Amino acid sequence: MKLNLAGKDAGLTFESVHLVPGRGGCSRLHPHFHTVSVSLDGEPSDRGMLMHIYRLKEVVIRLCQEFDHMVLVANYPPEVMTVDEEETGYKINVNGKTYLLPYSDVLRLPIGTLNVEDLCQYMAENLLDRLDPILDARRIVSMTVEVDEGNGQSASVTVSTRR
Ligand SMILES: [Zn+2]
Repeated sequence: MKLNLAGKDAGLTFESVHLVPGRGGCSRLHPHFHTVSVSLDGEPSDRGMLMHIYRLKEVVIRLCQEFDHMVLVANYPPEVMTVDEEETGYKINVNGKTYLLPYSDVLRLPIGTLNVEDLCQYMAENLLDRLDPILDARRIVSMTVEVDEGNGQSASVTVSTRR
């Protein structure tokens, strides 16, 4: 059986801003409107549930809130982008330009790029960490996370809950 949270209808969304090293429009700061969908796959309990859907939703919403209205910064190699900690915020050098962004506005992510695939993989692993204490891995075998970055562009990944 599968338990599904459909991102848009369930309000699992966040808006964020990022830039991608390189040329063209994506090299400048630009927004994305993300939607996160999650489904669990496994055997229901004696009570006929995989897990309480509101508990699942709560965890996904919290993650979305942490990403919402933030500037996302990935961990690019230093020859591509440098991020220095200054007194008032991060000084980011990329694409021959320098940005100074307040600490409060930036979410640094321990991932190599901000491609939707990398973002999706990161969110799936992060969600799994958060769900670990409340998810019964004897019954629930996997979780699929889909991250849509808008314009019909998305990535999805299925991760095992048994790790
Ligand atoms: Zn983008």
